[in-house]
Amino acid sequence: MRLFGSLLHKICTVVTVLCLIHIGVSLFYYLNESRSVLLRNQQTQSEAPSQTVIASTATSRGLDVNVTAAPVKTVKVLEKCPDPSPILVGPLRVEFSDPVNLELVRKENANVKDGGRYRPSDCVALQKVAIIIPFRHRDEHLKYWLYYLHPILQRQQLDYGIYVINQAGEDTFNRAKLLNVGYAEALKEYDYDCFVFSDVDLIPMDDRNTYKCYNQPRHLSVSMDKFGFRLPYNQYFGGVSALSKEQYLKINGLPNNYWGWGGEDDDIYNRLVARGMSVSRPDGVIGKCRMIRHNRDAKNEPNPQRFDRIAHTRITMNKDGINSLQYKVLNVEKDQLFTKITVDIGKPT
Ligand code: BGC
Repeated sequence: MRLFGSLLHKICTVVTVLCLIHIGVSLFYYLNESRSVLLRNQQTQSEAPSQTVIASTATSRGLDVNVTAAPVKTVKVLEKCPDPSPILVGPLRVEFSDPVNLELVRKENANVKDGGRYRPSDCVALQKVAIIIPFRHRDEHLKYWLYYLHPILQRQQLDYGIYVINQAGEDTFNRAKLLNVGYAEALKEYDYDCFVFSDVDLIPMDDRNTYKCYNQPRHLSVSMDKFGFRLPYNQYFGGVSALSKEQYLKINGLPNNYWGWGGEDDDIYNRLVARGMSVSRPDGVIGKCRMIRHNRDAKNEPNPQRFDRIAHTRITMNKDGINSLQYKVLNVEKDQLFTKITVDIGKPT
């Protein structure tokens, strides 16, 4: 009987121990599982906070909402465009024998929009460039300019806009005043930091001649066919030139009182020198360009006062320039390839 009692006692002890082990193991697994569920939840919350918030709001209100996760937007951060542009091709064939079909030019430059605006889509352009063209009755030349320049400027990876400043009426032409108008009007549209002033009849023959600004004012049309592919004189700053906003403001912009042909580019050169700047230029090969041959326009005869004026630039430049510019915009035309601003700039007094 005693033996039976002690055996029963042992069996009970073993059963109790086994039960305790079972409870312990179950408890361990239970706690472990709860902990990993908690961790998983925390992780999901930190990955998609808005998603979790929407889901919990819906359930807490007892709404039967089919909650779908908002698509995760990937914002591609664009890098700066490389300098120089890697898609330049170098020397170009430029000729003016065949007429230009503008409708075709529009199709071939489908990425140019909203009045001649373009910016590269795969990198951030190094400069925002407004190209200003003084204009009157030169539609045929403008077509060639647009045909050649748009592809070049796109390969140069510039963030650019084309502004054709059309002098209204038939009074004497004033190139530099029109350029001042272009500067002021372009800045009303966009935060340009560089201004390229280009005659409508000049086409670069090499796309490495980048239409942008440099540390010093830039003269781009350094090697024109008209002058035997060389500078007519060292101080020559006509044709195509580029000034940063800062350089432009430093010289009080361009003169407003050169009516008729000649001298205004020399006045600009004098302004730059008077403000301690020098002219930067591409070499004579990269700087080659062609001019469309034409007769002198009516009401753009050589200005007889130009020699006297350029002799006094240092005195006149402080009160004649962007600080004294007056004009009236008569019309703004937005073509896909350019913005044409027709403007009343008055006449010689
Ligand atoms: C005129 C400039 C002109 C240059 C080249 C100079 O005599 O003053 O305005 O650009 O000749 O034709």
